[in-house]
Amino acid sequence: QAKAAGGNSLRFFNMDMQTSVLERAKLEGDLHQALERNELSLHYQVQVNHQGVTTGVEALLRWYHPQRGWVSPATFIPLAEENGLILPIGHWVLKLACEQLAKWAQQPAYAALTISVNVSSVQFQQPGFIRDVESLLAQTQAPPSRLVLEVTESLLMSEPTRVRSTMLKLRSQGIRFALDDFGTGYSSLSYLKRLPLDELKIDQSFIRELLTDKTDAAIVDTTILLAVSLGLTVVAEGVEKKEQFDWLKGHGCYRYQGYLFGRPTPIEYLFETY
Ligand code: C2E
Ligand code: MG
Ligand code: MG
Ligand code: MG
Repeated sequence: QAKAAGGNSLRFFNMDMQTSVLERAKLEGDLHQALERNELSLHYQVQVNHQGVTTGVEALLRWYHPQRGWVSPATFIPLAEENGLILPIGHWVLKLACEQLAKWAQQPAYAALTISVNVSSVQFQQPGFIRDVESLLAQTQAPPSRLVLEVTESLLMSEPTRVRSTMLKLRSQGIRFALDDFGTGYSSLSYLKRLPLDELKIDQSFIRELLTDKTDAAIVDTTILLAVSLGLTVVAEGVEKKEQFDWLKGHGCYRYQGYLFGRPTPIEYLFETY
């Protein structure tokens, strides 16, 4: 069964420079119907600590297109951001994540797990975002302290004062914030100082050749030191090899996500497969 194999072992349909305008328009049209037709789903990837114990999961969106098969979020999220569909889609993702958190809250073995949800800048900056998150938490009875919202550096650039105030309001409810893909955007270190972040995720592009590329190793090492001295939890993304895990642990990074620990997986197989 294809689905049980998990997200990233599947071959994704990807859109490249060659893709025609017509193709793009067709895909965009299909995306309009994807939600209603139940073609979207959420997979979850575990995050573990230095002892290999699962501390939480990241929710990752999946689209199974009836003709094309799996379409990569790297392809359809930017489309959804352009045409505004990211709002209903993002709402749906948050709702599912909150429902899952509420279920876990009832089970002692899972109650401490967090769910990290990727929030697009477009979604974060819509006027009703705070209300939307608050009403979903109230409706589902999900514990806010188990919800982590992942934002990217692009958001922080746009309107730092407003972004900061939105983050503070949500944070006062117990929600936590992670800065995703750290080091890939136009980051200014002053944002790190000014914004109420809890977690910093080192992008997988720096982890990939960590063991052979001295520059990557220096960047990762420095990022860990920076995060730790700012009191942030630092999470390494894209950890695939035991040697990368050992290096990171030896350099003071104690949270990890990557194929070494588990691929993005439908919820029903999440804790069965490993
Ligand atoms: P991200 O948030 O940085 O998510 C991590 C990506 O790395 C995921 O790709 C995951 O499958 C992949 N990954 C995890 N471990 C490994 C590993 O060991 N090796 C390698 N090579 N890759 C690994 P995915 O699922 O294709 O998602 C791509 C991006 O799409 C995400 O990057 C995120 O920016 C965006 N995305 C996914 N779901 C959502 C969503 O619900 N809302 C929004 N706004 N964006 C989403
Ligand atoms: Mg993420
Ligand atoms: Mg990332
Ligand atoms: Mg990303």
